[in-house]
Amino acid sequence: METKEFTGVAPKKAIVTPKTIIHQKFGTKACYTVEEVKESDENDCPGLSIPQKRPCVYRCSLQLPELLVVSGIFKKKKDAEQSAAELAIQKLGIRVDTDDPTPEEAWDSIVARINYLFSENFLSSLHPLSGHIGAILQRKGDLCGSLPVSVLAVYDAKLGSLCKYIDPEVESNPFLVMSYIIKATTKLSGFIATAEQHPWIRKQSPYPEDIVDSLLKQDGLQEPIQVAAVRIPSSEEKYVEAVTLHISSKEYYLNIIANELGLEDASNVLISRNLGKASSETRLFFAAPKSYILDPSSKLPNGKDGLRLDGPSNLRASYLSGHDIAGDAILASIGYTWKCRDLFYEDVAVQSYYRMLIGKTPGGIYKLSREALLASELPSRFTTRVNWRGSFPRDILCNFCRQHRLSEPLFSIISPASKEPTESCGSNLKVADLGRDVIGCVNGAPTTSRPMQSDTEMFQCEVKLLSRCENLIIKCFPKDCFKKQNDAIQNASLKLLVWLNNNFNNTIVPFEPLYETADIFGIQIFSENFFREISHYHSIQNCQQLNQSLGINSSCTTPVKGVCLLKIEGPDSGVCPCNGSLSCISYSVSLVVEGENIKKVIEVTNNFEFEVGVGAVISYVEEVVMQMSVGQSAYFTTSIFTSDLIFASASDSVEMQSLLSSKGCCLEYEINLTKVAEPLEERMEQALFNPSLSKQRVEFAVRHIIESHATTLIDFGCGSGSLLEALLKYQTSLEKIVGVDISPKGLTRAAKVLHSKLVTNSDSGVQLTSIKSLILYEGSITKFGSRLQGFDIGTCLEVIEHMDEDEACLFGDVALSYFCPRILIVSTPNYEYNVVLQRSNLAAQEQYEESGEKTLLQSCKFRNHDHKFEWTREQFGKWASGLAAQHNYNVEISGVGGSADIEPGFASQIAVFKREWSLEDGFKDADMDHQYNKIWEWVCNRKNE
Ligand code: SAH
Ligand code: MG
Repeated sequence: METKEFTGVAPKKAIVTPKTIIHQKFGTKACYTVEEVKESDENDCPGLSIPQKRPCVYRCSLQLPELLVVSGIFKKKKDAEQSAAELAIQKLGIRVDTDDPTPEEAWDSIVARINYLFSENFLSSLHPLSGHIGAILQRKGDLCGSLPVSVLAVYDAKLGSLCKYIDPEVESNPFLVMSYIIKATTKLSGFIATAEQHPWIRKQSPYPEDIVDSLLKQDGLQEPIQVAAVRIPSSEEKYVEAVTLHISSKEYYLNIIANELGLEDASNVLISRNLGKASSETRLFFAAPKSYILDPSSKLPNGKDGLRLDGPSNLRASYLSGHDIAGDAILASIGYTWKCRDLFYEDVAVQSYYRMLIGKTPGGIYKLSREALLASELPSRFTTRVNWRGSFPRDILCNFCRQHRLSEPLFSIISPASKEPTESCGSNLKVADLGRDVIGCVNGAPTTSRPMQSDTEMFQCEVKLLSRCENLIIKCFPKDCFKKQNDAIQNASLKLLVWLNNNFNNTIVPFEPLYETADIFGIQIFSENFFREISHYHSIQNCQQLNQSLGINSSCTTPVKGVCLLKIEGPDSGVCPCNGSLSCISYSVSLVVEGENIKKVIEVTNNFEFEVGVGAVISYVEEVVMQMSVGQSAYFTTSIFTSDLIFASASDSVEMQSLLSSKGCCLEYEINLTKVAEPLEERMEQALFNPSLSKQRVEFAVRHIIESHATTLIDFGCGSGSLLEALLKYQTSLEKIVGVDISPKGLTRAAKVLHSKLVTNSDSGVQLTSIKSLILYEGSITKFGSRLQGFDIGTCLEVIEHMDEDEACLFGDVALSYFCPRILIVSTPNYEYNVVLQRSNLAAQEQYEESGEKTLLQSCKFRNHDHKFEWTREQFGKWASGLAAQHNYNVEISGVGGSADIEPGFASQIAVFKREWSLEDGFKDADMDHQYNKIWEWVCNRKNE
C-alpha cells in the first residue's frame, strides 16, 4: 500500500523567534517598550470629518546596551516586539544559527537524548515517558525495567523530530522512529536493546532502590479499574465492538492491551499518535508486525521503509490513524500524560469511534458541530454570516487539515479591482451594454468600454492546502466576489470543503470526473500530492443504504425522493419557509421495524435552525419542510442512510446492530416546524433576481443619467454610496456628484468605498469618469438647504420608505419646490410584490392570480424591519401624480424586477419626475437655510485635459 516516494523536502525547521535570539544573547539587558500609535490604517479615508474608532496599532522600541531600535507599526503588540528584535539582529549582525543539524549531529543528539531519558533526573520529572518508566520499573520478573521501543517513539516528540533530520520519511511513517532508536541505543554503553521479537530498551544498571520504592508508594491506582475501549477488527465483516480493559496497579497497562490483542507482551504493541481532538489521549493500539526489519540501513531502494506489515490492512483503523495498520486494533484513551504521574484513563464508546470516523470528512465535521447527524448537511453555499449555523467553513477546513495531518490552510485575499484594473478603451458606453460583462478590447483595438466588474463587491479569496512538508496539494480560487474579506474566506473554504466532501462520500471516484468537477469549483489539484496526502486511504465509510423500500407516497403532498408515507398534519397557518429564510424545526429520528412494533429513538434535536435553500439539511428534510407551514408536523420514513451515521448518533451500538439487520427496518422522521424568520431584504431579492434588484435599480438610474446628459447629480439618501460608487465606473457627462444622508455610519462607509475606488482608479491610470468633484453631506433630506439646490438630476433610491409617510410627502414637496432638479428619480418597494418574494417558489405567481391577491397580501411583512411603510402600486401612483401636478412636473412610473404587465407588477417601483420648463427666476429661497454638514469631499487634481 505504501507507495510513497522520498520527497527530499527537509522537515520544518524548529522556529526560533527573533525575541528568543535576543534573549539568549542579552537576557534581562534587553528592554522592550511598546507604545500605542495613532496612525492611519489602510481603511482610512483622508478628509472624512466623522471621527473614526481606529484599531489600535503599536510600535516597539528595543533598548539594548549599545543600540536602540524602533519597529514599524503593527496591529499586535507581539508582532511589534518581534520586529524590533529582528531589526536588532540585523543591525548587530548576529549570525542566526538556525541551520538544521546534519544527520551525524542528529544521531549524536538521539543517543544523548536516550541516555537522558533513562536518567534519575528525568524519572523524577513530569513527562508521559517518566510515567511509563515508573510503571515498567514495577514490572515483575525479567522484563522489569524494559521499556517498549514503541513507547519511546510515540511519547517523546524530540526523538521524532531528530529522526526527521536523518530521514524525512519519518513524517509519513512514524514507526520508522523505532528503528532509529534501536540503532542509536546500540551505540550507547550500559544499555540493552533488542530488535528481536520484543523490541524494548533497558538500562543495565538499576535505579537506586529508594527511588523505585518511592515510586511504588506514590502510585495512586488502588483498586482494579475497568476502562471501556473499542475493538476494530481487521475483518470488515465484523462489527466494531466494545471491550473492557481491566487495569490494575499490579500490571503495566500496555500488557493488558497486549493481552486483549492476543499478544505476548507490551513490547509487541504499537501505539498511534493521538486521534480526534488535539487534547485527547485517544490512540490506536495494535500488533507490531511479526517479521520486520528494524535496521534502517536495509531500506529498499524505492524508499520503502523498514517496517512492513504482514497480513491484510485493517482498513478502518488505517483510515482513522492515517497510516497502515494490520490486524485488529484497540481504540482506547489511556496512558501517562504531562499533567499527572498517575495513569490517565477515560472510557471510549463505540459511538465515539463512529464520531471520530465521520469527523474525518468535511460534512461530518459540520454535522458534529451542529449535533444533528441525521438531519444537517454541509451547506453548499455561503450566503451571509448571520444565516450560517454551526462551525464556520474556515474552522471546518482547519479542523479537516488537522485530522489529515496537513499544514494549516493558507488564505490570500485578492481585490479584483486593484489587482487587475479592467482595460479601458475609452469609447462611449452604449446603453445596451449596461449590465453585460462584455470585454472591451480585442487585440488592443477599442471596441466598447464597459463598467468595471461588479459594483460594490470587492474581495476574492484563494485558499491553498499544503502538506506538512509544504507541498501544494490543492488550490481553490472561486470567482465570487464579496464585500467583506471574511465572507470571501468563508466562501472559498466552503467551495473547497464541498468538493472534498463529494470526494469523500463517493468511495470510487474515477480520476477524470474528479478533475472535471474540480474545474467548476475553481479548484486545481496537484495530483501526486493529493493522492499521497488525502485520498491515500479510501474512505471506508459504510455507504450502503438500509436495504428496504417501503410503501407508497400519500397523495395529498408532493412526492419527495427517498421519502415514504409522508403525512403533514395541522392547520395551514400560511407562514411558510422560502429560500433565504431561516426555519426552525424540532425533530426526532427513530429506527423502526415495520410489523414488529419496534421503535427506537436515535436522535432528538429541538430548535434546530437552518437557512432554507442552501442544502443545510439533507435534501428530503428540506423538501418536506418546504411543504409545511409554521405549526404543522410532518411524519415520514426513509430507507436512505449510512449505518455509520446511525451508530455515531445512537448510544447503544449493539441494539442498533440487531435492529439494522432485521427486515423492514427504516428510519422514521417526525418534524415540527416551529418558526420561520423572514429573510433579509437583500437576500430575498438575490434569491429571485439576477442581476440583483439593487443592481437593476442602479442600472435604471444610470441609463437615465446618461440619456439626460446631466453634469451635476445629487443622491438623496445615498446610504453607503452604492449608486455614487457605480457612477465612477460608467462614462457619463457628470462632473459634480453629491450624496446626502442622515446616517453617519452609512456616510462613513460611502466615503471609504469611494476613496478606495478613486485611489485604485488613479493608481491604475484608468479614469473612466469625467467627474471632477464629489461631496458627501450629512443631514435630513426633508430640510431645505441651498447647498442641495441647482442639480440637473436627483436620485432617491429606496429611501422614502425609511421615513414616516408624511415625511416622505414633505421630501417630495421640498425636492420639487426648492431643489428643483430637472429630473428626479424615486424608487420604493412595491408592497404587492412581497407575495412573490416571500413565497419565492414559482407557484406563488400563479397562486397570486388565482386566489385573490387581498388575502395573500395580508400575511406579508415589510421587506426590511427599518421600513416605515411599503406602498402598493396604487398608493405610489397617487403620491407621484399628486406631487407632479402640484409642482408642474411630468411623471412616468415604471420599475425594475418583474414587469409592468404581469401581476403583481414591478418588484421595485420607480417614478421619474421631469421638469420641462426652465427656472427663469432662479431658485426659491426658504426662510431657513439648513447648513448641511460637509463630511467628505474629493476634488479631482488632474489638470484640465
Ligand atoms: N440609496 C441607497 C440607500 C438606501 S437605504 C441605496 O439605494 O443603496 C435608505 C437610506 O435612507 C439610509 O441610508 C438612511 O440613512 C437614509 N435616510 C432615511 N431617512 C433619511 C432622511 N430623512 N434624510 C436622509 N437620509 C435618510
Ligand atoms: Mg429600503
